[in-house]
Amino acid sequence: MALSGLQIFKLLPKTNCKECGQATCMAFAMQLAAGKAELDECPYVSDEAKAELGEASAPPVRKVTIGTGDMAVTIGEETVLYRHEKRFEHMPGLGVLITGDMDDGEVDSLLEQLKQQEFNYVGQTLRPRVAAIKADDGARLAELAARADEKAGAALVLISGDAAALKAAAEPLKDRKPLLYAATEANFDDVAAVAGELDVPFAIKADSLEKLADLGQKAIDADFKEVVLDPCSATLGDVLMDQTLIRRAAVKQTFRALGFPTIGFPCDMTGDKMQEAVFASTFIAKYTGIVILSDLDPARVMPLLYLSQNIYTDPQRPMQMDQGVYPINDPNEDSPILVTTNFSLTYFTVSSEVEASKVPAWLCIMDVEGQSVLTAWAAGKFVADAIAPFLKKSGIEEKAPHRKITIPGYVAQISGELEEELGEGWEVQVGVREAADIPKYLRQLSKN
Ligand code: SF4
Repeated sequence: MALSGLQIFKLLPKTNCKECGQATCMAFAMQLAAGKAELDECPYVSDEAKAELGEASAPPVRKVTIGTGDMAVTIGEETVLYRHEKRFEHMPGLGVLITGDMDDGEVDSLLEQLKQQEFNYVGQTLRPRVAAIKADDGARLAELAARADEKAGAALVLISGDAAALKAAAEPLKDRKPLLYAATEANFDDVAAVAGELDVPFAIKADSLEKLADLGQKAIDADFKEVVLDPCSATLGDVLMDQTLIRRAAVKQTFRALGFPTIGFPCDMTGDKMQEAVFASTFIAKYTGIVILSDLDPARVMPLLYLSQNIYTDPQRPMQMDQGVYPINDPNEDSPILVTTNFSLTYFTVSSEVEASKVPAWLCIMDVEGQSVLTAWAAGKFVADAIAPFLKKSGIEEKAPHRKITIPGYVAQISGELEEELGEGWEVQVGVREAADIPKYLRQLSKN
């Protein structure tokens, strides 16, 4: 049963050292009770207190990991309903459905795509990781699961209504932590027994949230922790409602029976590919942990991955680059010098335009806590008396002694002051406002 803030407080060190980010141990205890903090954030909790806090300190949505190694997918551990309240923790695992009636060529083609497909966006590598294998026949299920493991190393979801078939497929791969899908009212005991014996996660599904909560409670009573929920939503409206109610019950009421991550199958909801992408994006936007598609067309996979990344970045910590001097296109001592901020999007937009220009250049990236150029300027962080010392300490003078630097066009007004701050011998040039104009600007510059 969940503990109150006061009960948790009694088990904390009560030194008010603030290392957890809270002003007092009492404030931390209240955050913990509300599911908005994690016990690990206090480095001084004793082992006895940890054991006693046990369930109370578990996140309202349990953590589940499917697969191992690079393709592993961790979901759950969520503590908030809205991203801006703290952050969402784990990006959904995107995957593809492989069925027993597909021929070898089709199966291998999907597995090859799963293995090869990856997209780089603002410094992160994004990729689908899950193969959902569906077959009634145990031997076929086992054969396809082994193939998906061997050829793609995928995180596996094994789909069958027959517990014996699930066992046949999962047993040889139990160390790879496949997800068994799914226990229902009819077969709960059998599927749960296989999951328990093999120590792998399993999904429960039901056509109403009440029945789903009953099964969730059964799983808790049997001491299962790695469980995934499928509310079997039939329409887009149902997806929105079911996923929201499950998350709300978990994080607002600490209702443990629904305190598990979810799985969704847009592949089964429509035959129209574009509609499937819309359904998938709704699952992603509304908390779903694993989303299964009918194919891996990059035209749909890539935007879905970018959408996930946008939702699951920490809103309190802008994505940022390390401060430093970045060489692009193999520059030398005569190459132009550009300076801008360390907001990831700024860096990747500017660096890709410089790269596209084919003009060798030095890109000086200044740490302004991940803010964009104008925001950092307005906050007094990207201003003359901050940029000048950064440039002098950056080592750019040794790399390119000409001392001519280009600042973004949006902060043209600081050029004179910056030149003064930098001192004699430096020249500040005002660059373009839009990144798309950088290649033309650089080519022009290199002719002068
Ligand atoms: S880190 Fe621990 S001891 Fe320090 S204030 Fe937070 S809860 Fe208290």
